[in-house]
Amino acid sequence: MAASSVLLDGIGLLVTGSSDYGDGSPLGEVEDAAIVVDQGRVAWVGPAAAAPPVDVREDASGRCVLPGFVDSHSHLVFAGDRAAEFDARMAGRAYQSGGIRTTVTATRAASDEVLAANVARLVTEMRRQGTTTVEIKSGYGLTVRDEVRSLVLARQHTDETTFLGAHVVPKEFADDVAGYVELLTGDMLDACVPHSRWVDVFCERGAFDADAARTVLTAGMARGLRPRVHANQLGPGPGVALACELGAASADHCTYLTDADVDALASSGTVATLLPGVEFSTRSPYPEARRLLEAGAVVAIATDCNPGSCFTSSMPFCIALAVREMRMTPAEAVWSATVGGAVALRRADVGRLVPGARADLMVLDAPSYVHLAYRPGVPLVATVWHEGKPSPW
Ligand SMILES: [Zn+2]
Repeated sequence: MAASSVLLDGIGLLVTGSSDYGDGSPLGEVEDAAIVVDQGRVAWVGPAAAAPPVDVREDASGRCVLPGFVDSHSHLVFAGDRAAEFDARMAGRAYQSGGIRTTVTATRAASDEVLAANVARLVTEMRRQGTTTVEIKSGYGLTVRDEVRSLVLARQHTDETTFLGAHVVPKEFADDVAGYVELLTGDMLDACVPHSRWVDVFCERGAFDADAARTVLTAGMARGLRPRVHANQLGPGPGVALACELGAASADHCTYLTDADVDALASSGTVATLLPGVEFSTRSPYPEARRLLEAGAVVAIATDCNPGSCFTSSMPFCIALAVREMRMTPAEAVWSATVGGAVALRRADVGRLVPGARADLMVLDAPSYVHLAYRPGVPLVATVWHEGKPSPW
C-alpha cells in the first residue's frame, strides 16, 4: 500500500453498500472489518484479519462504519423562516403549495451574504449528521438574477445543483403562466445552465401542469441538463409518468401513485425518491414504500430540507421515519439513504465503500446501523470522513 494510505480498522460492522463486498446482501455487511483509504479514495475493504500492512492506523473501537449519506433532494438556498406556518398547520390548517411564495419574497430581499451564510450553516448541519453528498436546488428566487445567485451559492458546496425555476409561478406572473414558462425556457434557462447539472419541475396542481412541466424539462434537456421531477406529492397526477417517459433520474415524493405509476417506476431507470420528513412535517399520509419495493422499483430516501414543508437536515431522522412509518427494514432504509441516493444522482463514486469510491464515510457511536432507527433522535454520528479526511468541527 502507498505511504499516504490510512488504515481504519477495529470496525465492528462495516457497510459497503455492495453485494460484491461482504455478506452478499445489498447492504454488503462485513463484521470485524477494516478499510484502507488513499488519496481520498477507498483502496481496500474487507475483514480486518486480511488487511494489507499500512503505516498509519486508526481504530474504530468496534463501532459501525457506513458510507456517507447521499441526500439527493434539498432546497437550502433561502431566507426567512416559516415556523408560524408550521405552528398553524399543526393546529389544523392544510399545507398549500402557495406557501413557497412567502420564502420567495424573503429570499429576493436577502443579501448575498445572508443567503451564503444560510446555505453554509445547513450544509454543516447535514455533514454533522453524516451527509457527504447533497443535491441543492434553486427555486426561491424565480427571477433571472435570483435563480442564478441561488445556483452560484449552491455550487460553492456541491456539483449537484438543480435549476428549479419551475418551483411555483411567482405572483407577478399569476395571470400569465405562459409568460413565465417563456422566461423559464428562455433567458432564465440561458443564465442558469452554466451553474446547473439538473433541471427540475414542481409538477402539481397549483404549480405546473404536465404540459408546462414537459416544456420546461425538455428545454433544459436540450441544453444538456438532466431531468428530475417533483411528482405526485399532494395528490395523484402526471408527474411520475412524465418523469419515466423523459428518462428522469428520479421522481421525487411519489406519495400518491396509481398501479400504472408503480409499474412505470419499476420498469424504468427512474428512481422513486421518498421524502418522509415532508409527510411527518405536514401530517400527511406516507408514501407506500413497500408497494414500490415489492414491484422492484429503486427507492431512495432524502430530506427535502426546505423552510416550508420539511425543515429537517437529518438523514438519520428520515431513516427512522422510513422504518417506523413506511415499514422499510433498517437495511433497506440505509441502502436507500446511501446507494439509492447515489443512483438518484447517477453517481457511481459515492454512496458505497468499495475500491475506487470516494472515501466518504461515517463512524457511528453504535455497533450497528440498525441503531439509526432503533435510537431515533439521538446524535449517533461520531465522525464523518469526506474524501478521506475527518471533518473538522
Ligand atoms: Zn422539494
